[in-house]
Amino acid sequence: MEFQFYMPTRVITGEDCIRKNKDAFRALGTKAMIVTGARSAKANGSEKDVTEALKLADIEYVVFDKVMSNPTIACVYEGAAAARKAGADFVIAIGGGSPMDAGKAIALLAAQDISEDDLFKGQYENKILPMAFVPTTAGTGSEVTPYSILTNDKAQTKTSIATPLLFPALAFLDGRYTKDLGITTTINTAIDALSHGIEGMISVKANPVSDVLAKESIRQIGECFKALKEGSLTAAHREQLLYASMLAGVVIAHTGTTAVHSMGYSLTYFKDIDHGRANGLLLAEFMKFTAAGRPDVIESIITAMGYKKLEELEKDLEELLGAKEAITAEEISKYSSIAIKAKNIGNCPVVPEEKDLIKIYTESFGLSV
Ligand code: NAP
Ligand code: ZN
Repeated sequence: MEFQFYMPTRVITGEDCIRKNKDAFRALGTKAMIVTGARSAKANGSEKDVTEALKLADIEYVVFDKVMSNPTIACVYEGAAAARKAGADFVIAIGGGSPMDAGKAIALLAAQDISEDDLFKGQYENKILPMAFVPTTAGTGSEVTPYSILTNDKAQTKTSIATPLLFPALAFLDGRYTKDLGITTTINTAIDALSHGIEGMISVKANPVSDVLAKESIRQIGECFKALKEGSLTAAHREQLLYASMLAGVVIAHTGTTAVHSMGYSLTYFKDIDHGRANGLLLAEFMKFTAAGRPDVIESIITAMGYKKLEELEKDLEELLGAKEAITAEEISKYSSIAIKAKNIGNCPVVPEEKDLIKIYTESFGLSV
């Protein structure tokens, strides 16, 4: 058995964990830049808990609250310039995947000069501002991954900066911040985490530890499906989803994602479909495609979720996702030609060709072939 496992992020969980562990910020620096979206971090109490902890720890801070969903390259350059101007020496990102991914790119760009042309090339100096993350959606697992995914207009898709430098030093998981997350975002983000666990098991880079974590993440999300469908989530379910999302993040930190994410990026870029929803719409058909060559992997995923057949998962996903968006054959053809070029296609054990992606999109949206 030959594999490597690396997870440098210190994960701290539990109610009020930020204030209880305020001294952990001291090891990161003396002036923080807090990176958030426009509203939610202020509304759910997470930003206040962070700023109070910083005051108690005698640490200065500035706030950059301009991160939009699916952050742009311009946004992270603006954030990095603001961090430099303020003299921030570490970053605290609070929010869903968007502020967390933006926080990573800001921390990198504030520490070194990288041109837009070189941003996704993977060649960086060994310098980055240290980071602490507070996830407030339960989906992306960005708090424990080495990826920052940005909207890339030149490539007309979303592209990731991937380097171990992007692992945050600290992640605080407090389920209370997700309490008022609307049901649609809760479902979409839970499906994103599920997709990470499933794609992680399918990936050719899966290893024995990532499989253990993926199965547990998938099992925990499966346990929440009934409450998600009924919109009857308790605080305990919310905590469970946040935990499962973190586990699935550790999984993709090792395995990467697969064609589901590559294909989903076009749905987000061109049709403004939420990231997790985009994955959920494509997941079952991609699993059917993979089952033709690797039925064993698909069977163990289905078993981990507590199902007997893939069709049961497909039915639950359809119920959770509701009516699907309209899509044309021309759109499918364009998206497939973009997705086939993505790096994570190489992680698929049954490597799809462009015509296979066309089929997966077509079947996923119920278009007649
Ligand atoms: P998001 O874009 O971060 O947030 C979606 C919406 O939810 C925003 O309007 C946000 O409001 C709101 N929100 C966040 N937390 C909330 C809370 N606790 N209560 C109420 N509203 C809340 O969505 P996301 O699905 O978490 O992240 C998606 C992004 O993550 C995509 O860009 C995707 O590509 C990326 N991603 C990254 C990784 C990785 O490994 N790095 C993995 C998967 C996905 P505000 O804007 O006001 O905060
Ligand atoms: Zn994802």
